[in-house]
Amino acid sequence: MSKKVINNKSIDFQVFDVHIHFGEYKGHFFAPESINETLTFCGVHRFSVMLFPNKLNLNTERDKWLNTKILEQNSSVDLLLVVSPELLMVDDNLSILDTLPYKMIKLHGALHSWHPNGKAIRKVFQIAKGKHIPIMLHTGGREKSDAGSYLNICADFPEVRVILAHSRPFDETLKVMKMCPNVWADTSFLPIEKVKLFDREGLIDRVLFGTDFPIATYFSNETNPQTWYDKTISKMMAALGVGTFKIISNVNYINFYHRY
Ligand SMILES: [Zn+2]
Repeated sequence: MSKKVINNKSIDFQVFDVHIHFGEYKGHFFAPESINETLTFCGVHRFSVMLFPNKLNLNTERDKWLNTKILEQNSSVDLLLVVSPELLMVDDNLSILDTLPYKMIKLHGALHSWHPNGKAIRKVFQIAKGKHIPIMLHTGGREKSDAGSYLNICADFPEVRVILAHSRPFDETLKVMKMCPNVWADTSFLPIEKVKLFDREGLIDRVLFGTDFPIATYFSNETNPQTWYDKTISKMMAALGVGTFKIISNVNYINFYHRY
C-alpha cells in the first residue's frame, strides 16, 4: 500500500472521503477522469461521489453516461444517486437504482422541494429500506433542510442509515444523532472545532470525513486542488490527532457501508 505523506509524516492508513462531486458546477465541467486523477494523486483510496445537484436531477442519458464513466475510472468509488421530487414523479420506484451500482441516495432539501415529512421523501426512505442502502441528506440553507427537520423521518426508519451532510445547524445535528442511532454526520464545510465537539459528545464513531471537493475549493483562497486537499487533511490531523482522524476517515467509512 502506498503511504500518504503529509507535513513529512506518513499516514499508515487509507483515507476515504464520503462527500465528492463531479460534473457541471458554475459553468465549469469537472470530468470523471480529472476528479479521479486528483483524488488518487492526493492519496484518497476510496470515495463516495455524486453529480452536482442541479435544479431537476432527472437522470438524463448524459448523467447515466457520466456515472458509468466515473465507475470505469476507479473501482474504488461508491456512487451516489441524486434524487429530486421530479425524478421520483417520472420513476416512482426509482428503478434507475437497478441499472447502475449506486451505493447511496442523496437528497438536497435546499435545492429541491422535499418536504421533510412529506409523502415523497417517505417513499424514498421506503425504497432505501427495501434496497438496504443509506441516504445522504444535505443540511442547512433553509429551515426545511435543517438537521432537526429530519428528526421524525430518521426516527421512523431506524433501519435506514442517514448522513446529515454538513451537520447544520450543529446543535440540531447533535440532537438527531443522540435520538437516532441510525444517523451519522459528515465533516464537509464543518469547522474543525465542531468535529472536536462530536468527539467530546461521544459521537465520533458516527462522523465521516467528507470534503465536498471540488465545491469547497471555490470557497477557499487556495486555488490548487491538490494543495487544498493536502492542507485540509493536515489541518484536521493537527487539530484532532492522527488517531481520531483515522477513525473518521477510515474506520467509520468501512463501518458505515458494512453495517448491514
Ligand atoms: Zn456536496
